[in-house]
Amino acid sequence: MAEVEGASDVVDSFESDIRRELPPLAHITHIEGLELEYCGERGFQIIPSDAKGSAQVHITPDAAICPDCLKELFDPANRRYRYPFINCTNCGPRLTIINAIPYDRANTSMACFELCPQCRAEYENPSDRRFHAEPNACPLCGPQITLLDAKGVIMETDDPVRRAVDLLATGRILAVRGLGGYHLSVDAASDEAIRRLRLRKFREEKPLAVMVRDVEQAKRIASVSSEEEQLLTSSQRPIVLLKKITNNLISDFIAPAIPNLGVMLPCAPLHYLLLENRFTALVMTSANQVDEPICTGNREVVARLQGIADYFVAHNRDILVRCDDSIAFVAAGKPQLIRRSRGYAPRPIPLPDVLPAVLALGPQLKTTQCILKGNFAYLSPHIGDMETPQARDFYAESLTLMKRITESDPQVVVCDEHPAYFSTRAAEELAAERIIRVQHHHAHIVSCLADNGLSGDVIGLAMDGTGYGPDGNAWGGEFLIANETGYQRFGHLQYLVLPGGEKAIREPWRIAASLLKSACGPSWKEIALRLGLTTDSSICDLLDRIMNDRIHSPLSSGLGRLFDGIAALTGLRRTVSFEGQAAMELEARASNATGASYPFAILQDGNKSHIVDFSAMIRAIVTDLEKGTSRARIAASFHQTLADVFTAMTCKMREETGLQRVALSGGCFQNKILLESAIDRLVGAGFDVYRHRKVPANDGGVALGQAVIAASLMKKGCSYEIR
Ligand code: ZN
Ligand code: ZN
Ligand code: FE
Repeated sequence: MAEVEGASDVVDSFESDIRRELPPLAHITHIEGLELEYCGERGFQIIPSDAKGSAQVHITPDAAICPDCLKELFDPANRRYRYPFINCTNCGPRLTIINAIPYDRANTSMACFELCPQCRAEYENPSDRRFHAEPNACPLCGPQITLLDAKGVIMETDDPVRRAVDLLATGRILAVRGLGGYHLSVDAASDEAIRRLRLRKFREEKPLAVMVRDVEQAKRIASVSSEEEQLLTSSQRPIVLLKKITNNLISDFIAPAIPNLGVMLPCAPLHYLLLENRFTALVMTSANQVDEPICTGNREVVARLQGIADYFVAHNRDILVRCDDSIAFVAAGKPQLIRRSRGYAPRPIPLPDVLPAVLALGPQLKTTQCILKGNFAYLSPHIGDMETPQARDFYAESLTLMKRITESDPQVVVCDEHPAYFSTRAAEELAAERIIRVQHHHAHIVSCLADNGLSGDVIGLAMDGTGYGPDGNAWGGEFLIANETGYQRFGHLQYLVLPGGEKAIREPWRIAASLLKSACGPSWKEIALRLGLTTDSSICDLLDRIMNDRIHSPLSSGLGRLFDGIAALTGLRRTVSFEGQAAMELEARASNATGASYPFAILQDGNKSHIVDFSAMIRAIVTDLEKGTSRARIAASFHQTLADVFTAMTCKMREETGLQRVALSGGCFQNKILLESAIDRLVGAGFDVYRHRKVPANDGGVALGQAVIAASLMKKGCSYEIR
């Protein structure tokens, strides 16, 4: 709080100066003005804050090394020359070293390092760049790097960093301790090293992220727009998805078959030292086993990465909060997050209203948790998929963290409607006063509203893989009329039969068969054989039977599943090795082609739901395939058709409701072509279109929607309304 006196123009300029001259890591959540009696004060004084005040203490996210520290890092005359833990008030670790509130050195993993006299002098001098920089350190008094061999034994060396660089240059796999956890790193130019990393990590094809020294290096391997450059160099330093350019500087095995490349700039000083002069790029992928959380501890990493890493670049500044790299991309000129974690979390998201305290437990995949307090939503760092015991431990760890940093323990808990989700069972075990269950796609839409600081009625397009539907089917291509307390399912994409259930998700050719069956009738088997979906007619007979009898064949309206099916139908791939792979490749095909849209129909079931029927499109795709139309063109036409569908349905919803605002949410809006064409077409049709900004469109944002819905229900004292 600041009390300022003077002529009104001076007082006004004081406020604008605060905004303009904000230190790099300071962040204004809001400014409130209040007129006071003039009392003719002279001079300037700082009054100690009242410890019992109600002000909320915000824990800041970790920030990449600042330009001043970077200069010192490579200045031979500086006492921190090549010191991997250099930082100042404008940069360095925050969330990841915090043990307890308030953020003081004694409550961080720096507590065990006693400041040397020189560092202490900086720390205590208000005019020094390191005044109250809690992690302040130097080579004399601070943390140190050690190099460990595959068994975790310390290797004797004068300069562990240079030794690590030599090892990377000979193709070794190194686990490198960063800000929020360990990375696995190899030379991005070495096919051989990358092949070995993929083999050991059981990660066949999923793209790997690379780290480059600066934007110039990034531009040698990918095209970088000015918005993308801003994102790359921001203090958050996310992985940014960029369009690859053909080059022989990095291996083709890094991101096979897709046009994008995940690129980030260094965030820790150590990364700058590793990238100083030997490599164009280093692969930097989270150090973990499939579906497990990122490793943070030195002993933990040696145990869990046995057989994966050849060496470990360890250090003794403990990571107290696991925090994966964030991932972002730019679409329609604006950044959008795919994973919100290091650099962003736990910066609170301001809400338009003060809402009751709630704890939201998120969905099953890509999960995060969210606590509402006052008019802020605190979203946890990315936790991930709840598929392994380690991931579930991390879930519990994150819950403790969120309660600690918000200094709250909400007694109302929100979860998904899916009875088998781990988070749903966690909600039941928490012994809270009240549990509120929220529909998955409704949560997506309200998450998008909150992300944009909005409330009230809206047209919601939730385009997603899978979410629990109250009718017992898997939802995921939903046209909702929604607000914070309820929704109406105006319509949805036609239900597909998924022959084999989960198996159909891993083997999209089964979905292609299902699409053919529903669009082409009994002749579907001959078409499937002709198109090469399978060479075995008895398999067609078997699929036909299980679909007819609906044995292990659930229904899904998920757009993600339609993407899978179309990718398989057009011969892109019969099976996938990770979720979203088929969709990514279909988008890739479409990215350099154009095609006219295919026909579709909107059917009305009774006079209730509107159903988008794709049969005509499927038949047209079959004709195109048999004519030999290029697959790129078919992929482009498919994307066009979806934009048409979105526009047609949205216009129908406007006719019926008069609503003008459209919120786009769900994992499919990570597809840049789909997002950009939807925005373009809907804005063209006169809608106010809202897309995600600070929170992912995918399931990483669902907890925010859950929290806002539950808190709004409590505030208004109403029950969950499904119209
Ligand atoms: Zn700095
Ligand atoms: Zn020192
Ligand atoms: Fe979802």
